[in-house]
Amino acid sequence: MPTLIDLRSEGEKPGESRPRHPEKERRPDNASPRKPDWIRVRAPTSLGYHETKELVRDLKLHTVCEEAGCPNIGECWSHKHATFMILGGICTRACSFCNVATGKPLPLDEAEPENVAFATARMGLKHVVVTSVDRDDLEDGGADHFVRTIRAVRNAAPETTIEILTPDFLRKPGAAELVIDAAPDVFNHNLETVPRLYHSIRPGARYYQSLRLLDSVKQRDPNQFTKSGLMVGLGETKDEVLQVMDDLRVANVDFLTIGQYLQPTKKHAAIDRFWTPEEFKALETIAYAKGFLMVSASPLTRSSHHAGEDFARLKAARLAQQA
Ligand code: SF4
Repeated sequence: MPTLIDLRSEGEKPGESRPRHPEKERRPDNASPRKPDWIRVRAPTSLGYHETKELVRDLKLHTVCEEAGCPNIGECWSHKHATFMILGGICTRACSFCNVATGKPLPLDEAEPENVAFATARMGLKHVVVTSVDRDDLEDGGADHFVRTIRAVRNAAPETTIEILTPDFLRKPGAAELVIDAAPDVFNHNLETVPRLYHSIRPGARYYQSLRLLDSVKQRDPNQFTKSGLMVGLGETKDEVLQVMDDLRVANVDFLTIGQYLQPTKKHAAIDRFWTPEEFKALETIAYAKGFLMVSASPLTRSSHHAGEDFARLKAARLAQQA
């Protein structure tokens, strides 16, 4: 199955003339089942979509919306919601589910934090989501760049709430603490899958390190909302998903997102199966029963989908719980 919405060829991007996933070039194709009717994606055509695209190009920014081939890009960009991807467009890891380009990264763009802030203000975003590639090559894993971006957005758009979706900062002592202390409103780090599948799906990461990161955010700043996401359809069982929910609750994570994995290219991990909308609904019900403040679970749920509206609901849920 090709990338669901692959719009990257429409603009110049550093590194696009090289193979996007050199480490996967020689791998055999992985066949996936046919897409069911409930995975529907409309081609993006609206004026808002084109305006968002132009701004992103003008400022030489990356978005995970494009780089990951997100199926929701038409909807999100038409409403001028985009998730900025900092630290460049090339990732030092090579996860088997992810469409972000991999390889040796380019030097950091020192203007990127200010450009993200400028775009946030220009787009009038009430809530901005900032994620990044993994930068294992940097001493601090890119923590300082996250901090600079958070500060720049606070200066340029003081009313805008900030959600960050970070890498795991594995083997980068002190990096996570720097970012936590910059006080984003939401600290998101995705577990992505169940621990049994880490070696094949997220080989460069460690399940317990990711859990520990989420736990450390709450320990250090209990007011910060924490959030994590899972993909299903990679071969996990329902019991394994429920166990991950329990692990996240032990780490006091507030918000859980669960969406269907979609194979970006034939060289990526195969889709084991499509979970039905009813199964997603059942997962949502169970997750609420386990104590999450907010849950979003549906085939096209992505970490940053409707993040602004969800943040307002998250705050309301906390207030209701405190009352
Ligand atoms: S769901 Fe997130 S990544 Fe996908 S298009 Fe919307 S903002 Fe971008």
